[in-house]
Amino acid sequence: MKGLVYMGPEDLRLMDRMEPKLADNQVLLRVKYCGICGSDMTMYAGKHTRLQPDTVLGHEFVGEVVEIRTDKQSDLKIGDYVAVEPIIHCHQCFYCKSGRYNLCHHRGVYGCDVDGGFAELVQAPLDKIIKLPKSGELKKMALIEPLAVAVSVANKCQFRVGDTVVVLGGGTIGLLVAQVMEHSAAGNVIVSEIDPYRLQKARALGLNAVNPNQEDLESRVKELKKDGADVVIDSVGHAEAIKTAFELVRRGGLINIVALYHGKVPVDLLQLVYSEIDLKGTFIYTYQDFITAKELLERELIAAEALITAVYPLAEAVDVFKKMHYKNEGLKTLIKVF
Ligand SMILES: [Zn+2]
Ligand SMILES: [Zn+2]
Repeated sequence: MKGLVYMGPEDLRLMDRMEPKLADNQVLLRVKYCGICGSDMTMYAGKHTRLQPDTVLGHEFVGEVVEIRTDKQSDLKIGDYVAVEPIIHCHQCFYCKSGRYNLCHHRGVYGCDVDGGFAELVQAPLDKIIKLPKSGELKKMALIEPLAVAVSVANKCQFRVGDTVVVLGGGTIGLLVAQVMEHSAAGNVIVSEIDPYRLQKARALGLNAVNPNQEDLESRVKELKKDGADVVIDSVGHAEAIKTAFELVRRGGLINIVALYHGKVPVDLLQLVYSEIDLKGTFIYTYQDFITAKELLERELIAAEALITAVYPLAEAVDVFKKMHYKNEGLKTLIKVF
């Protein structure tokens, strides 16, 4: 079978790989679609600390069940469409046992610590399989993983009906978070983005999008809520973004960071104390967020399809990564594997 293999920095190769052998309680999938994530680009650049050469990348994949190896009772059948919640964890530690396995010390992810979804076949544990509806578009279901991140972010915001929410950054995660927040009855969601393409995309999704270089974001927020935003979500990850978050949030409000910061940035901790601001981070998700993401997609409450801006066959994946490394346009790029 073919797989897209990381061999070193900026060195991806489409290679013949051994077909995965199933252990007990594992499932073999024929991968249909696999999304390219920001972290895949970090891996491509050779900047991921755990990734070793000779690994198939890809953690945002959906596919069809071709083999099941288990004695356990399961309603899973050959031919079912499924997604995989791609986090590997130890099941033993404090975090795993208290349901927060996204924080496990021995955490890993498909497409980095084990072979991932940019391959014709991939194995996955039965307890990480999410069964998808057989009807409808499988393609949009490839967004279940980033949507699970967005669900996890929203669940950590403690917002109330009618709240004003600002999402900094209109990339895939930002636009998914904004949509989830709208469906969760936060009253006024504003997306702040400077890239014209992403702005237009956000507006096409019916979101209230502002270009802070052209309009005064703070006064737009204060038109909605005099004291400032109840919640600010940072999906950008620059010093400027966290500074903006502190300017926009009201006293007693909450800032939730989902962006991955590289390097340290100054934060006004005096304001944090004086204004009693809750500062939070959200790292990925757990299984239940995946289930919620699936339900949101199934019920067509999230415009996921609109965020898919390009689909390429696996044969072109090496070139696609190379191009995206130099210029990353659009939102979500999918590789059609099979
Ligand atoms: Zn991802
Ligand atoms: Zn653990």
